[in-house]
Amino acid sequence: MHNKVNHVYLSLGSNIGNRASFLNQAVRLLSQNCGTLMAQSAIYETAPWGLLAQDDFLNMAVALDTALLPNELLAAVLQIETSLGRVRTEQWGPRTIDIDILLYGTVVVADKSLTVPHPLMHERRFTLQPLADIAPNVLHPLFKKTVTELLLLCPDTAAVSKVTA
Ligand code: AMP
Repeated sequence: MHNKVNHVYLSLGSNIGNRASFLNQAVRLLSQNCGTLMAQSAIYETAPWGLLAQDDFLNMAVALDTALLPNELLAAVLQIETSLGRVRTEQWGPRTIDIDILLYGTVVVADKSLTVPHPLMHERRFTLQPLADIAPNVLHPLFKKTVTELLLLCPDTAAVSKVTA
């Protein structure tokens, strides 16, 4: 039996090495391993969130149609993170890509290893701004607000600036 196709939104971020290349490789691997790429946002440059001193991030959002179940999608995403984070063969390098599952259709997941909608998506401008490029009118299934509405309500004041069309 096949799982039905679900429309999912993912957030991608990188702040190590050739950030744009890591984003592009992640998009390619997601479309190879996880489903059909339906849309991708512009790339944005954003100041790091929180207190850690680290380089600025590049962030983007993608939409996929996937037949993977939520936990299968998470496993595939973690595998892509691992494959792109491994910068040297003999040793684990710093993490070069972060992939978050933001929305999985209207499905709500509250497992030990997976929370969907992503519990911080509405608090992060670097997540909402790219997502608004490709899903402005999509409803958050718990808050019953669109991505555009969440962006207007978002308290995060960190700069998020578009670097590609
Ligand atoms: P991080 O180190 O912040 O990338 O967190 C990775 C871990 O967060 C994964 O091993 C997941 O088990 C967990 N997680 C929970 N909810 C989500 C989600 N919506 N998207 C991605 N990872 C999630």
